[in-house]
Amino acid sequence: MERNSPPLIALENVSRRYRAGRAEVGALKDVTLDIYAGEFVAVMGRSGSGKTTLMNIIGCLDRPSGGEYFYKGQPVHALGADNRARLRREAFGFVFQNYNLLRMATAQENVEMPAIYSGTGKRARWDRSAELLSRLGLSHRTDHHPNELSGGEQQRVAIARALMNGAEVVLADEPTGSLDSRNGKEIMAQLAALSERGRTVILVTHDPAVARHAHRRIELLDGRVVNDTGARTQRGRASAAPAAPARSPRIQAPVASLMESAQTARRTLRSNKSRTALTLLGIVIGVFSVTAMLGVAQAMRNSILNSFQQLGGAGITISPRFDEASRPLTLSDAEAIRSQIPNLLSVAPEMNGGGNLVGRDNSESARITATTGQAMQERGLLLAEGAFFDEAHSESYAPVVILGGMLAGNLFGERARAVGEYILINAAPYQVIGVLKRYEGAFGAFAPEQRSAYVPLRTGAARLFGRDNLDWIQVVAADTDQIETVQNAIEALLSRRHGGSAFRIDNQAQLLEVQNNIGRIVSLVFGAIGSISLVVAGIGVMNIMLASVAERTREIGLRMAIGARERDILMQFICEAAMVAALGGCAGLIGAIGLGALANSFAPAEVVAFTPWILLIGLSCATLTGVIFGFAPARRAAGMDPVAALRA
Ligand code: ADP
Ligand code: MG
Repeated sequence: MERNSPPLIALENVSRRYRAGRAEVGALKDVTLDIYAGEFVAVMGRSGSGKTTLMNIIGCLDRPSGGEYFYKGQPVHALGADNRARLRREAFGFVFQNYNLLRMATAQENVEMPAIYSGTGKRARWDRSAELLSRLGLSHRTDHHPNELSGGEQQRVAIARALMNGAEVVLADEPTGSLDSRNGKEIMAQLAALSERGRTVILVTHDPAVARHAHRRIELLDGRVVNDTGARTQRGRASAAPAAPARSPRIQAPVASLMESAQTARRTLRSNKSRTALTLLGIVIGVFSVTAMLGVAQAMRNSILNSFQQLGGAGITISPRFDEASRPLTLSDAEAIRSQIPNLLSVAPEMNGGGNLVGRDNSESARITATTGQAMQERGLLLAEGAFFDEAHSESYAPVVILGGMLAGNLFGERARAVGEYILINAAPYQVIGVLKRYEGAFGAFAPEQRSAYVPLRTGAARLFGRDNLDWIQVVAADTDQIETVQNAIEALLSRRHGGSAFRIDNQAQLLEVQNNIGRIVSLVFGAIGSISLVVAGIGVMNIMLASVAERTREIGLRMAIGARERDILMQFICEAAMVAALGGCAGLIGAIGLGALANSFAPAEVVAFTPWILLIGLSCATLTGVIFGFAPARRAAGMDPVAALRA
């Protein structure tokens, strides 16, 4: 009857060849072997005879190069990576010679690990691992890390881990090889006890005394079975082997949850502080630059908006078109608008040009604008000293000038009073009657007004530019609601005077839109500059993650041995990268906010403005950088061959 019950493990002509340079090594050759449930098998043989290779194939860590392997009748040799991982997780428990515990986790956390990959709940995991540890006499060591445990204790933790998911088969590869004889005996007793309770135990050992514990001895030589004392079922002893039909692949257990991955990641990051700090640093700087750049750009936009809002939103600008249809815009057009269009607050014609300005201290080439004092006031320009010019100045072609703050500082010295003094413009004398206040808004230092000179309109037309053509006329309607009506009236008037649509007529709202677009472009450019530093930081993350993957090869191998799927490993490493990056992102944000506040408190106006959006963008950029640049290292980790990784 038992003879007819199918074996738990059936190997048929299994071989495993390794490529070593050009030559091929046959680690296993035509091994045919049946192992029944409940057997206690000792695998013996010289070093290099293929024992580990056999164990790895049985435990689904490795695949045969030839032959067939059935587990409970299920063709393992044909299974995909995920299904083999499932078998490792559920059916097999590995015990290694060198324990292979994770040094950063406590004894209990090490024991729990296989259950994380099988999706067991936290509470159930905790209970079972505590029970297993106490059964192995380690209740007082649950919170110890491996380096605080003796070799014997570490190996008992490893046995508990092997049993965590209720493995049907325990695979122990020289489990006593690193232990003294007393501890070795203890471990053997534990394995024997497992066998007593009906578990299948396959044990690799050199020690004949150890092998005597087993019911069956299989000896390998040069990859072939040369001696087999035979399965006990064949000697008629009862077997607990259930006649299990081939299992169809079940619904997959859930991937170790994101929470678990995050916790593992946190533990790893904490256990290697200096590496984490280095990775962080790059991201901190990257996020700092991105956020600071966006903050500065935002402040610039705000300042542009502010200066426009000073005009009250009812402004209309008339300017010549830059094409053949263009007609010269003249002072008489401005007069016509002033006299014929109702509901206007002001009409400000303007002319622009350049000139050479000679002051007492210095000379400078500057932009010269011919306009009215009223128009200057309407643009929101403020005087530090002196007065704006009036109609009388213009009517009399008075040679007077108002200087931008920075221009005055250059021509007369920073502290000198310029009002009342004379300067030469293109070799003709002009009296300074006013100096503009510095710093209109955050970026006032860069504002063109600060480096410009202003003269009355007729003075500019007759004395400086020698033309009547205006560059534009700025009209302000009395009421924002009437802006369309006024704009249409001006358009009608000008096309009566010049024919066709000779001029561009923009209102404040349109210009605001344009300015907004400019602000957006500035944000984009600044953001791009910041992003470059984030990319550099990302490359740093990738570098360090690659080093980390290389350094933790054994850990990866171990995780795979206890049943982690490729995507579990992938997720774990991406999680680590994302967490470092997010952490660095937070630090970068705090830095940017702090430094921004500091800069704002020193500057005469806001130079950095943060919106919730900017902060969100900064943090997401950081996390995304981690995910993107952590992907390649994570892929490398997930793609590792478990056997090779365990050998590292
Ligand atoms: P044992 O565990 O009995 O000492 P192994 O199963 O580890 O033996 O190895 C069996 C043979 O296969 C040895 O000759 C070994 O050198 C060879 N071998 C094992 N792994 C590899 C590998 N990754 N590449 C090449 N040869 C290997
Ligand atoms: Mg070996």
